[in-house]
Amino acid sequence: MTIRKLHFDSALLPSGWQNDVTIAVDDGGNISSVDSEIADAGAHHVAGAALPGVPNVHSHAHQRAMAGLAERAGPDRDSFWTWREVMYGFLARMTPDDLQAIAAQLYVEMLKSGFTSVGEFQYLHHGPGGTPYGETAEMSLRTLDAADHAGIGITSLPTLYAYGGFGGAEPNPRQERFLNGADRYLDIVSSLHKRSQGNPNHGLGISPHSLRAVTSELLGEVIAGLDALTENAPIHIHIAEQVREVEDCIEWCGKRPVDLLMETFDVGDRWCLIHATHMSDDETRAVAASGAVVGLCPATEANLGDGIFPAPLYLAAQGRIAIGSDSHISVSPVEELRLLEYGQRLITRERNVLAAGAHASTGRTLLNHVLSGGAQCLGRAIGALSVGNRADIVVLDTDAPALYGREGDALIDSWIFSGNQPCVSNVFVGGVQVVAGGRHIHEDDILADYRATIDRLSE
Ligand SMILES: [Zn+2]
Repeated sequence: MTIRKLHFDSALLPSGWQNDVTIAVDDGGNISSVDSEIADAGAHHVAGAALPGVPNVHSHAHQRAMAGLAERAGPDRDSFWTWREVMYGFLARMTPDDLQAIAAQLYVEMLKSGFTSVGEFQYLHHGPGGTPYGETAEMSLRTLDAADHAGIGITSLPTLYAYGGFGGAEPNPRQERFLNGADRYLDIVSSLHKRSQGNPNHGLGISPHSLRAVTSELLGEVIAGLDALTENAPIHIHIAEQVREVEDCIEWCGKRPVDLLMETFDVGDRWCLIHATHMSDDETRAVAASGAVVGLCPATEANLGDGIFPAPLYLAAQGRIAIGSDSHISVSPVEELRLLEYGQRLITRERNVLAAGAHASTGRTLLNHVLSGGAQCLGRAIGALSVGNRADIVVLDTDAPALYGREGDALIDSWIFSGNQPCVSNVFVGGVQVVAGGRHIHEDDILADYRATIDRLSE
């Protein structure tokens, strides 16, 4: 077994900040030892401060290509629902090659910003008109190809989408590329399982789109099928993102969506509730107590006018959170964490609202939350620089003006809460360097493919 050693000026370890840190990586890409305060002459020196790579738990890769195109006012008040019509129009012509090119560009952007793994909530399954490809998992497999090319870790979360509203309502014709019954859906899961098994950069879970798009019978059947294939895989679901969704759910069954989910399924630590914006206090405490993670996407939630998550109550109840870039109007852990805190400051008119306690750093508190929550809900050995975990490492440029003269948690606070210049200089995934000096190793090729795809889709 060949072991490579990387030496950093400082690194954030589970024990806290340490200087002169040497991380050894085995040939499978896992961390085999971590030493600090010792000079190791045989190690490759990387200047800067090392952090565990940030997990991005919620991505719809295809939406990267339409980011920014839904910002023109319509004839009436614009909402999530008018945005969704623009998105449906854009993806109508997208081919497998297009999706792969868009996803690769997106993953390059994620890596350069400090995300080293992604949960791909992929619902564009079939060809135009809803005709399946010869390989029913074609589109999801293309996101895996894109992830491998860009060198990001990925948890495939193929989306189960069957209905157009609560109670098994007929789907909208514009949703036909998303739709599957249990059998065909489980074929997709099985193809992804075959392709990912034994690859430490790949993980697998499922994503019932929302309680609007599945029934409890269908989801129960799919979870049983998943459990027969692999143990305790993650389950991600959009929930309570929009007030109208909560109202429709109450009108249909008399219950709020989070209450309904918790009553119907055994929601525990394999679950990730995406958004969960509109919860009663009782729902908030119940989700926190369940051990599930809430996947927050503050930039998308702001862009879509969703609302603000009840973070103070949820975190006080020991709730777990992670972040995602969702619609990709922004691809940056800095912007997601900054906005998460700022939303709370704007409504409470206080500062450092989400800090862990007196004197705690807000940036460090938020980073700790999303590293452990992200690792949990992506189901992979990531989120901490410790032996046995993937060597997924983000290095901050401590000579950058925003970070110069800072150390320890002040580095994280300055990274998240000051300036707009990128501060990530080097990124390693499974010990492989994919960003060097702020540039991705395949940046030019991947960008050329992306441009060709956008030219074609815009014709
Ligand atoms: Zn989403």
